Amino acid sequence: MPSRSGTTLQLSHTIHSNAPLGSLVPINLPIVSKIFNSNRAERIPYNCPLASVKTQKSRYVPPEVVAIRVPLLQLTNFQINDWPELSAKSFAVMVLMLPPDSARKWRPHELELVEVVADQVAVALSHAAILEESMRARDMLMEQNIALDAARREAEMAICARNDFLAVMNHEMQTPMRAIVSLSSLLLETKLTAEQRIMVETILKSSDLLATLSNDVLDISKLGDGSLELDIAPFNLHTMFSDVVNLIKPVAAFKRLSVMVHLSPELPTGAIGDHKRLMQIILNVVGNSIKFTKEGHISITASMAKPDSLRDPYAPDFHPVLSDGSFYLAVQVKDTGCGISPQDLPHTFTKFAHSQNATSKWHSSNGLGLALSKRFVGLMQGNIWLQSEGVGKGCTTTFFVKLGIADKPNAILQRIAPPVKPNQGAQGQNSSMIYGNMAAPPFYQSSV
Ligand code: ADP
Repeated sequence: MPSRSGTTLQLSHTIHSNAPLGSLVPINLPIVSKIFNSNRAERIPYNCPLASVKTQKSRYVPPEVVAIRVPLLQLTNFQINDWPELSAKSFAVMVLMLPPDSARKWRPHELELVEVVADQVAVALSHAAILEESMRARDMLMEQNIALDAARREAEMAICARNDFLAVMNHEMQTPMRAIVSLSSLLLETKLTAEQRIMVETILKSSDLLATLSNDVLDISKLGDGSLELDIAPFNLHTMFSDVVNLIKPVAAFKRLSVMVHLSPELPTGAIGDHKRLMQIILNVVGNSIKFTKEGHISITASMAKPDSLRDPYAPDFHPVLSDGSFYLAVQVKDTGCGISPQDLPHTFTKFAHSQNATSKWHSSNGLGLALSKRFVGLMQGNIWLQSEGVGKGCTTTFFVKLGIADKPNAILQRIAPPVKPNQGAQGQNSSMIYGNMAAPPFYQSSV
């Protein structure tokens, strides 16, 4: 059999022979090459290293010796179809000798038999090699599985530890944060110099940003490990938009921006979905429009999307499916703000990617809002995208989410929605709300 290094042949098995097991023969001998290059049984001299018959007596009749190569086949050899002409990478050598002093000669049919036997030995050796290889592969797989299992358990523990840490930090930060926000709001209602007002407003803005960032980081990590689930319940869609407007009104008024909200008449009043997360998406998108618009207006349109209008030019693989009792809510937010350059547009949904871009460096940005919104929209089986003609040309954000239609809207609405005051607008069938340039409210609320 060839040695591991492939430079020698080693005597590994003998039958009725006293030749010493383990003896070595260099593989580069001409006689070895001759045997390797032939598929027939070759006669070899009795005293060549392969036969190594030593003359013991003077009138000795040496035996006639033949040698034949035995192809050593491996699994890879069986991927080609031309068995038995397989191109083996290495060979063993089978050496057969007739009894000495018998004057017997190899006859042709005996040599043919030797060739057949060599083929049989090759098959047996290849079976053994395949078995050995598959057992080695099985052992390796088992080891890999154990290692993978351990790595998975470690990763799960690390994720749990990270989430616990984030949840505790988030919770512990809420109390001082709330105190800072409410006390600074109260401070703004007192008599302050212009300089002091700017300082308190900055404290308020920064603490609000910090609170949003801490919540966003917690959400992103929960979304990352799949532990965030939607809280599905019936809610009043119209009231939700009215709440959105109430929340953004102070900031829009402060920046003297007009906000127009149009709810299309066919939009159902009662919907089933995660009301809190939907509101978070709308506030993220509208908040961006307010943040990135210096002057002009922002329009929010909500309607029931038709399946053929759900095409997203940037996501041709998105195939919305409508089932009974569900509909797609389409929300479009247009602004006349700073817009987005074509090179920044593809990165808007990559978390943290935008905190350094041209527009963001003038604003308090962390680049998490849209990344989060996209994940929430995905959980709601929808899609979101941004369009902009370029810098200075405004921006349009559109998203779709799948919601259920509440089957008993009146009962649900009475249970979940407090009565909306007439000046809050959004309860009617054809709701449209316009907020013109408003005077700054007595306190600054930067919750968007
Ligand atoms: P953030 O606003 O905190 O940076 P977002 O993920 O909400 O994070 O937004 C990512 C980026 O997309 C923003 O930094 C901004 O560059 C761009 N962007 C989003 N909405 C608008 C918009 N209405 N007008 C201009 N740029 C926008």
